[in-house]
Amino acid sequence: MRKKIVVGNWKMNKTVTESITLAAEVIAAIGKEFSGCDVGIAPAFPALYEVGKLTLPSRVSLVAQNCHFEPDGAFTGEVSASMVREAGCSAVIIGHSERRQYFGETNAIVNSKVKQALSEGLQVIMCVGETLEQREGGVTGDVVTAQVREGLLGIGNISNMVIAYEPVWAIGTGKTATSEQAEEVHLMIRNTVSDLLGEEAAEKLRIQYGGSVKPSNAKELFSMPNIDGGLIGGASLNVADFVAIVNAAD
Ligand code: PEP
Repeated sequence: MRKKIVVGNWKMNKTVTESITLAAEVIAAIGKEFSGCDVGIAPAFPALYEVGKLTLPSRVSLVAQNCHFEPDGAFTGEVSASMVREAGCSAVIIGHSERRQYFGETNAIVNSKVKQALSEGLQVIMCVGETLEQREGGVTGDVVTAQVREGLLGIGNISNMVIAYEPVWAIGTGKTATSEQAEEVHLMIRNTVSDLLGEEAAEKLRIQYGGSVKPSNAKELFSMPNIDGGLIGGASLNVADFVAIVNAAD
């Protein structure tokens, strides 16, 4: 059985001081209540090092929201995989739809970043998902399959990877995919990975759902056979909501 994984993506929210406060509250709350699932938080870059001091001795892992595909060099404003690892991260989110939408990240760029992060020993959460237009145009399967295939190009070992299915139309909109809609895509992702890397690797792969997950819908989503946890945006900024979602996965 796959262990569930819940990660809070704080996006461009919270200063360093605010991040420390929120992280301390999350760690205290998760620590008190038993959690049988993996839990991570992804603050913004400036807060990673300080928050890392709090997460390191806890059961909560530190996750970066992005990293560059080159190991180092003249890339002003960018942050490398080794930098986030040394700041205390054990994982990184790659290819979030906001990165694809606002910063032009293609499947090829996502693939380069995944390779770089894996080579640094980071766990990678690779995000995929269709837009509303694509869903209504009936091409969800084609889009998500291409994102998975091209994102995993040349990668033979995905044991340190998680895929997050995040329909773009459900992110931050309050619209959640029904558990059946999400399960259908999760199963398709698993079958695609099975074609690429074999059944055993596909069965072990954890596939998170993301898109307006809340305490009220988390349990139903996480009860689906191919939904192995959640990538949580808005609700992860509220300690009580995030802990309730973690408990739903536990
Ligand atoms: C996300 O940003 O990964 C996300 C799922 O956001 P939200 O939960 O706010 O929809």
